[in-house]
Amino acid sequence: MTLTDAPSPALEVLRRVFGYDAFRDRQGEIIDTVVAGGDAVVLMPTGAGKSLCYQIPALVRPGTGLIVSPLIALMHDQVDALRAVGVRAEFLNSTQGPEERVQVERGLLAGEVDLIYIAPERLALESTRTLLDRVAAGPGLSVFAIDEAHCVSQWGHDFRPDYLTLADLVRRWPGVPTMALTATATEETHRELTTRLHLQDATHFVASFDRPNIQYRIVPKDEVKQQLLTFLRTEHAGDAGIVYALSRASVDSTAEWLASRGITALPYHAGLDARVRARNQARFLREDGVVIVATIAFGMGIDKPDVRFVAHIDLPKSVEGYYQETGRAGRDGLPATAWLAYGLNDVVQQRRLIDRGTGDAAHRRRQSANLDAMLALCETVTCRRRQLLAYFGQPTGTDCGNCDTCLEPVATWDGTVPAQKLLSTVVRLQRERNQRFGGGQIIDILRGKRTPKVEQHGHDALTTFGIGADLGERAWRSVLRQLMAQDVVAVGDDGYGTLMLGAAAPAVLKGEQPVRLRHDLEQSRSGGGSKRAAPVTADLDAQAQVVFERLRTWRSAQAKEQAVPAYVVFGDATLKALAVARPASLDALSGISGVGAAKLERYGQAVLDVLAES
Ligand code: ADP
Ligand code: ZN
Repeated sequence: MTLTDAPSPALEVLRRVFGYDAFRDRQGEIIDTVVAGGDAVVLMPTGAGKSLCYQIPALVRPGTGLIVSPLIALMHDQVDALRAVGVRAEFLNSTQGPEERVQVERGLLAGEVDLIYIAPERLALESTRTLLDRVAAGPGLSVFAIDEAHCVSQWGHDFRPDYLTLADLVRRWPGVPTMALTATATEETHRELTTRLHLQDATHFVASFDRPNIQYRIVPKDEVKQQLLTFLRTEHAGDAGIVYALSRASVDSTAEWLASRGITALPYHAGLDARVRARNQARFLREDGVVIVATIAFGMGIDKPDVRFVAHIDLPKSVEGYYQETGRAGRDGLPATAWLAYGLNDVVQQRRLIDRGTGDAAHRRRQSANLDAMLALCETVTCRRRQLLAYFGQPTGTDCGNCDTCLEPVATWDGTVPAQKLLSTVVRLQRERNQRFGGGQIIDILRGKRTPKVEQHGHDALTTFGIGADLGERAWRSVLRQLMAQDVVAVGDDGYGTLMLGAAAPAVLKGEQPVRLRHDLEQSRSGGGSKRAAPVTADLDAQAQVVFERLRTWRSAQAKEQAVPAYVVFGDATLKALAVARPASLDALSGISGVGAAKLERYGQAVLDVLAES
């Protein structure tokens, strides 16, 4: 291309409507494929910019773009964000009354809608399909995009039965390109969604799943609430973030506890009244600096770009789920933290859930394999990001420099002897007494503690009683946790968390296999790690930081007035660019990334005023 060539229509839309200079990564290729009428399967991590991949073809091709999206809350915000840049966007879902629906339908048939978002359960209705047939035959459909396409996977963590019915629609409107998009990365999910949606002949785009701006940290669990609070106070004061817990009870108590310590923390789980849930979600999206404490039900489709941290206070059930959840941090590309605290009880509890759970043996094996992979990630002594990317089939040759093990290399020690002591205790209980016990009792025996339970069972007479007195309680728990992760020790399927020999136990007992263990970091008591994530504005000079704060205050007021999330007005990345460049004219302002034609007209003068006062 020479400099005198006019930009392609797609690039022209990117610049004029969205105010961005250039496509990111493979966006340009994907958009070209679809604009030319081809089908596409797009696997890209959260925050990579999937939305533009269907929004731009919808604007460039004639007719209305049809987007299937599973979450109603997301739909509202996406439509708000599109309208804010002057795009004619609408949605159809169960929250609308008949009049509103008729209005939208009329607009569709008149060819006055650029993009229509539809919930999958609406699309399952014959009446909706007939309506779309009429649109296809009339003003036309420009693209059929299935967002969160991994929801068709029955094995996946987000399966939605309504998604299966979408397959019928893929060939219903000849000549309309189909797209399936997801941030779920495994090859298995990719294969499954391709066959289920009949997209074998589509062009497949698999982006790198790396999220370099997210710092991954995993710390041993101690006083988890206190650890979390320290983490929030020292590294993320005033930031928006998500705290994930496994149970509703723990969500409620954690949110309450944080709130009592001055953090704006709100609970979110399926057991709450629908209105409370909607209100808490809306506050999280619209206000600055709200922390939401939630079960994993929260977050799919939350496209708030300025979530600065995702914290897990319980062990996630799979690496895939963990990666999706942590991926909700830092979608704007600015620094963010993924923080996880996990402990021995997490392992025991999850094994118990798997053993007691429903489903056939194959399902249980799969859950068990998922848990093992998660544990391996927690206990790795090498770069976490390398391990994550390798898990998703994208190995990298170098350490990342932005995870806890890279920032603070883990010291390891030879744990062979403690492992043998622990295993002998388990063996003795089993052979001599025909008994199995959980980790707590085994550790008491090793440390030679005469607790009532030890005396009651006569465990002080075992030859291994007291042979591990050289290590403290905390050290033993760390040893045990890691032995479980390495499959030296296994948890019985009796539902009581009793210990048994793992597959690697014989080799360890015979001294054929040494055991390397990581030293738990001492700082983990207070939030974990001394290497903090830098605040978003760390790279701005003092003057620019002041300007950034002024712009943020102005943005909050705007957002409140219009009842839209702050990022619909301008994202943090745009505010930063404004604070640094401090443009003094509308013309200069239009050159800032994120300032398109509609926003320039709407906010241009107001922004110049704020900048002039600063
Ligand atoms: P995804 O759906 O993949 O999670 P989004 O579509 O929500 O990601 O995009 C994440 C953020 O990146 C949004 O704020 C979006 O406006 C921004 N973005 C996307 N593409 C570009 C681009 N080419 N240049 C600048 N910003 C972009
Ligand atoms: Zn690393």
